[in-house]
Amino acid sequence: LANPLLVRAANEARQRVWEARLAGRKVGLVPTMGALHAGHLSLVQAARGECDFTVVTIFVNPTQFGPGEDFHRYPRDLAADLAALARGHVDMVFAPAVDDLYRVRHSTFVEPPRVARAWEGAFRPQHFRGVATIVLKLLHIIPADVAFFGHKDYQQTCVVRDMVDDFDIPVTIRTCPTIREADGLAMSSRNAYLSPSEREQAGAVHRSLAEAVAMFEAGERDSATIARAMRGVLMQAGIVRIDYIALVDPLTLDEVSRVGVDSVALVAVHVGATRLIDNTQVG
Ligand code: AMP
Repeated sequence: LANPLLVRAANEARQRVWEARLAGRKVGLVPTMGALHAGHLSLVQAARGECDFTVVTIFVNPTQFGPGEDFHRYPRDLAADLAALARGHVDMVFAPAVDDLYRVRHSTFVEPPRVARAWEGAFRPQHFRGVATIVLKLLHIIPADVAFFGHKDYQQTCVVRDMVDDFDIPVTIRTCPTIREADGLAMSSRNAYLSPSEREQAGAVHRSLAEAVAMFEAGERDSATIARAMRGVLMQAGIVRIDYIALVDPLTLDEVSRVGVDSVALVAVHVGATRLIDNTQVG
């Protein structure tokens, strides 16, 4: 197993991607913040299936973290990430230093699209401004044909899609299914923060989503009724700090009063000191 080519400098990364494209290779981009798990590797697999040159970026982006959030303690282990990717047949890893990606005088930010306002945007006010800015920067450094994102961060995929459409960025955005632990908990680098008892509690997040799906399948269409039942599942597990439970339109992310097959249930909670998000299509 060979470690993938590790590139630190943006100019070198861009040059290598252009060389691949000019050689007729289809380039896939998988942006991550590292601490790689099976969810990330499923995106790599999707990229490998569709593209001939797969680039994984590893960058804990400071501008998408709010004050008091976990930027400084976010798990970082480049050696372990490179070892995980060696099995994934990745062509290039771009892992820049913060100072190289954000020069001292950096001051331009993307004003994120309308879909960024509610939900995560309401609880993490500058988050999507940081996400949109780093994704735009990465797409300029890695001019990929296709970029892969996880359904796990559903609102993020909406923000990225709308930015790409609004700014005429020549890339195709693919969304890949959420990879889960045996009890349904969505894999996340932040799960490492959970104590054993918190980890057990966290299983209720997925159970609340499963409840929404089950109610929809049983014919329930009233979103307030479904949301109330989801809240009950969380509370019963002792999860009391709930940022939001919402049943939304999949494109606008506006709340719906009547749930349809394509409606999405969104959840954000705190389990101990750890904030978890998850979602599912209801129908
Ligand atoms: P992150 O490193 O958390 O920024 O995530 C990088 C990419 O992996 C994002 O597009 C996420 O949506 C995606 N991702 C994170 N967790 C999962 C998961 N459990 N299943 C599928 N994709 C995921």
